[in-house]
Amino acid sequence: MPESAQDYYDRILAATDADGRLPLAVEAMPGWDIFPYELDSLRLKPLQPLLEREPDRQGEDPASCRCAQGQPSEGVIWSDEHWRVSAERSGLPITAVLVSREHHDLADLPAELAGEFGRLLVVIAAAIEALPSVGRAHLGRYGDGGAHLHVFLFGRPARAGQFRGSPLLDWEENLPKIPVTVAAENASFVADRIVATYGGRAHTPAAGGPEDR
Ligand SMILES: [Zn+2]
Repeated sequence: MPESAQDYYDRILAATDADGRLPLAVEAMPGWDIFPYELDSLRLKPLQPLLEREPDRQGEDPASCRCAQGQPSEGVIWSDEHWRVSAERSGLPITAVLVSREHHDLADLPAELAGEFGRLLVVIAAAIEALPSVGRAHLGRYGDGGAHLHVFLFGRPARAGQFRGSPLLDWEENLPKIPVTVAAENASFVADRIVATYGGRAHTPAAGGPEDR
């Protein structure tokens, strides 16, 4: 029988100090050169109690999901009949978000769409890694805020050895945002590559909704 949520929590809690804090794992990532923080004054927050249950997310009930009112078109750079890709401006060369048009979560994606999903992840990652300012496409699916399937592809800046690995997102929050014109050029480049290798349509993000390019 797999371990329960409570058993898992109790095991972690047993490793905390009198304040409920876990020690920094300096033999693991906090001790690696890619860890973004200096350890002298760093400490983990005390462990919080378990939630009563997993909280509802935005769109947990499909009738209340944004897709029921028509998905927001802000930032959409590519689409076809089943999928959309939007670009979010951040400190990275590009942050792309792949979203299904129909209401699904990752664990209930029908087999046919799952096949397209896998292929699209490959195609979008290749398009992002073709950007000269990108060294690697990182991939993230969290799903803790919104129930509707959405996967992030982050362009990790090229030759920025300090930004390798999962600490990239700690850096990203603190990096200056890339200029609007650079973000648009990178998004167009990626969208055109997706069209060339997968099909679909590239769009120019516009305030009133995406326009075909
Ligand atoms: Zn939805």
